[in-house]
Amino acid sequence: MSTEVVARLKREILIDSLPVEISTGRLTKIEKPEGSLPLRLNRQHAAVLGLLHALCLLALVPWLFSWSGLVLAVAGHFVFGMLGINVGYHRLLTHRGFKCPKWLEHSLAVLGICNLQDSPARWVAIHRLHHQHSDRQPDPHSPHAGFWWGHMGWVIFQNRVHDKPIQFERYARDLLRDRFYLKLAAQKRWIGIYAGHALLFFLAGFILGWSGSGTVTGGLQLGLSWLVWGVFVRTVFVWHGTWAVNSLTHRIGYRNYDTADDSRNHWLVALLTHGEGWHNNHHAQQRSAAHGHKWWEFDMAWWVIRAFESVGLASHVVRPKPAV
Ligand SMILES: [Zn+2]
Ligand SMILES: [Zn+2]
Repeated sequence: MSTEVVARLKREILIDSLPVEISTGRLTKIEKPEGSLPLRLNRQHAAVLGLLHALCLLALVPWLFSWSGLVLAVAGHFVFGMLGINVGYHRLLTHRGFKCPKWLEHSLAVLGICNLQDSPARWVAIHRLHHQHSDRQPDPHSPHAGFWWGHMGWVIFQNRVHDKPIQFERYARDLLRDRFYLKLAAQKRWIGIYAGHALLFFLAGFILGWSGSGTVTGGLQLGLSWLVWGVFVRTVFVWHGTWAVNSLTHRIGYRNYDTADDSRNHWLVALLTHGEGWHNNHHAQQRSAAHGHKWWEFDMAWWVIRAFESVGLASHVVRPKPAV
C-alpha cells in the first residue's frame, strides 16, 4: 500500500487520532509515542546536541588537528563507546547477559556516562521499554514513526513518560536498588562526570603540549586538539552509532529470526558499533551476550566479554541458543 493511499485512508476514515497501526506492506507505520505528543522540544537536549555537533566542526580547523588526537578518538570509540555503551549499558546493565564484580560493573557504567547518552538507569529504562514494545506503541524510538524520529528526533523532543517514577519503577528497579545508580540518576551527577572527563582530556593534552613545546600556545594547541578529537568528535560519532542501531537496523538489513518487530542485521552498523548492528539476532535472543550468531557476523563486544570471562572477570555469560 503506498503512502499516498494510507494518507487518503487516514483522511477518509478519520483514523488519524486513533492509536492504530497501519500496514503499508513492507513496513508498518506507527504514530510517535503518546508521551511525546503534542511535540515539545526538550530545549536542554536540543541545545547540547546542537552544540556538540557544532563543536565537531572545529575538527576541520588544521591548527586543531594532531595525530595523537585522532588516535584518542579511535581508541575512545573502543573504550567509551564499546566498553561503556555496548558492553556496559546494553549487554550488562539492560539485559544482564553476564555477571561481573561490582567494581567492574560500575567502571563500565562510568565509561558509558562519558558518551553523554543519559544516566545508566534512564538509558536502561528507555531501552527495556523499546524491547517490550518494539515498533509498536509506545516504542520510544521506532523509525516506523519516521526515520529521523527513530534516529535522533526522540532525543530532542520531550517524552513525558520517560521521567515518570513509574517508568523507573517498572523498567529499572534492579539498578535503582544500587545507590550508585540512584545517585547518578537523581542528582544528575552523570553530567558532571562527562564534563570532568572532557576537562581531563584538555588538561592532559595541555600539560603534554606545554612540556613538549615549551610554550603555552603549544599546550593550548594539543589540549584543544585532544578535547575536539578525543571528546567532541568521538562523542558525536558514538551517538550516531547508537542511534543508527535504533533507526537503520529497524529499517534495513536481513533477518535471521522471524521476530514480531522489524529488527534487522546490517553489517555496516555492526562494524561501526562493534557488533550492535546484528540487531535482529539481539531482538530474537535479548539476553544473549553475543549478538553475532552466524560465523561471519563479527561481534567485537562479544570477544571482549569472552576475554573478561577467560580471566575470571565475567561469569554466567548467556550464550545464544542454536536457531531452530
Ligand atoms: Zn537491547
Ligand atoms: Zn531494537
